[in-house]
Amino acid sequence: MLPIALALAIITMAPVDGKDSAVPLPAVIAHRGASAYLPEHTLPAKALAFGMGADYLEQDVVLTKDSVPIVLHDIQLDEVTDVAARFPDRARDDGRFYALDFSLDEIRALQVHERSDPATGMARSPSRFPVGKSRFAIPTLAEEIEFIQGLMHSTGRQVGIYPEIKSPRWHRDQGCDISPIVLKVLAEYGYTESGDRIFVQCFDQVETRRLREELGTRLPLIQLIAAPPKSGDDPHATLVTEAGVTRIAEYAQGIGPAYNRIVVSVDVNGEPVFSQLVEWAHRHDLAVHPYTFRADVLPAYSADFDGLMDLFLNCARVDGLFTDFPDRTREFVDRHVRR
Ligand code: CA
Repeated sequence: MLPIALALAIITMAPVDGKDSAVPLPAVIAHRGASAYLPEHTLPAKALAFGMGADYLEQDVVLTKDSVPIVLHDIQLDEVTDVAARFPDRARDDGRFYALDFSLDEIRALQVHERSDPATGMARSPSRFPVGKSRFAIPTLAEEIEFIQGLMHSTGRQVGIYPEIKSPRWHRDQGCDISPIVLKVLAEYGYTESGDRIFVQCFDQVETRRLREELGTRLPLIQLIAAPPKSGDDPHATLVTEAGVTRIAEYAQGIGPAYNRIVVSVDVNGEPVFSQLVEWAHRHDLAVHPYTFRADVLPAYSADFDGLMDLFLNCARVDGLFTDFPDRTREFVDRHVRR
């Protein structure tokens, strides 16, 4: 007879449907919600992503004039709301309308729409939700967490949240320290420990390290890595080296690179060429969550969305994907990922 603990261990490790259940499947991270189908960062977009089986729902976080964290991708409001029509005299000299110049009450009065060019009103992605239809609003971070925790309560299904601290240096230049404010809201809703189902992400490597070392958070951190610029200096060049990844491992639990930091070019036959980034990250036990996977914006080396996901999940073996299409990524991960 096997000792019961060993027998249980063997059962736990046994392959199920050809998969080793001891190795977690890659995470389906709903990028701004199910943003392919509904205006990004609205609660309906989060509800749809939840219903589609996403493992994590993403929040981008900026501050209002009264220092309330809200869920909005840009520091400006004009690509996704009717702010220019409602408050025409409130633009800065650059013609843009900044969330930080509006109180929460004013932001609550805005209608959110699918992302469009503020100059022309033309949709950025014409095949997505029609611009200006129906009625949507910007949630605060607290409202969004209550919404997600409410869904977890009513359905019994658990998901993670994945907040990004946006432009911390810009906020500080404007007199606002965004990171402690975000951490406080997260703590109020029970997110304080390394084992909590959350990743906190930031592009600014000084700020991400500060979250750990100065602000003392125990939450899992993801160092975001921007795509290489089309021209000029690459501000994140030092992060995508073996030494850079080693430094990230001092304070973070993973990296969130643009996916063209992993597939960096194509060879003479048009085949993708991989960097060593995933290998270096895994050597340091860092999770790798590249962004952004979109069935309606494919790179030249992928004929279709499944092929693109196959390349990253089964060849590069990343640990999760930021996707605008959580339904299609969920299905691919469940059916086709070999782990
Ligand atoms: Ca983001």
